[in-house]
Amino acid sequence: MATILIVEDEPELVRVLRSYLENAGYTVLTASRGDTGLAAYESRKPDLVLLDLNLPGMDGLDVARHIRRKDNTPIIMLTARVEETDELIGLELGADDYIPKPFSPRVVIARVRALLRRTETSGPAARMLRFGELEIDQDGHTVSRAGQMLDLTPTEFNLLAAFAGQPGRVFSRLQLLEASQGTAYEGYERTIDAHIKNLRAKLEPDPKKPRYIETVFGVGYRFNKDA
Ligand code: CA
Repeated sequence: MATILIVEDEPELVRVLRSYLENAGYTVLTASRGDTGLAAYESRKPDLVLLDLNLPGMDGLDVARHIRRKDNTPIIMLTARVEETDELIGLELGADDYIPKPFSPRVVIARVRALLRRTETSGPAARMLRFGELEIDQDGHTVSRAGQMLDLTPTEFNLLAAFAGQPGRVFSRLQLLEASQGTAYEGYERTIDAHIKNLRAKLEPDPKKPRYIETVFGVGYRFNKDA
């Protein structure tokens, strides 16, 4: 079973998270400072890190940056700050997801499970992705909904493939730009909004109430596989 490292300085929060994670069968390590958290990560090599943003010793963003220099261990940022830029920066630095405080421990468990499942199955992934009525053929570059072929541009297809390859993950606009076009120029992030609008018009049964591609306010977009 996977090992989760919690780096968090609020003892009550650590207690609750630990008990939920252990009940779910995970091995739990904890650290209450950024610097000791990083040391624990280096010595114990956890499968996933739950990382608070505001920490004594070393800021959560710095911890994430250090981890990313070494490997792709999944990171979920726990953030009490409401400024969207912090969340965005966390994602740009390589955090895989973020959960704003206050949160329900059940949500954390669900996200941990989803992220671990995603990283386990990455690598030579299934080439045919199915989500309800939606079928995405990554080799043939075709998409169908309820048996009807959808006419997507290459950019729209690449966007959808990026989303669907990691359902539930929040993508920033810059990340989507890179995923869809292979390059990302700062300042062009907003062009993604136009692509998303076009993609939704083709993909969503009701583009005004998107089910598949959710807007994550202030951050970007996320694919909802349960749509
Ligand atoms: Ca804190």
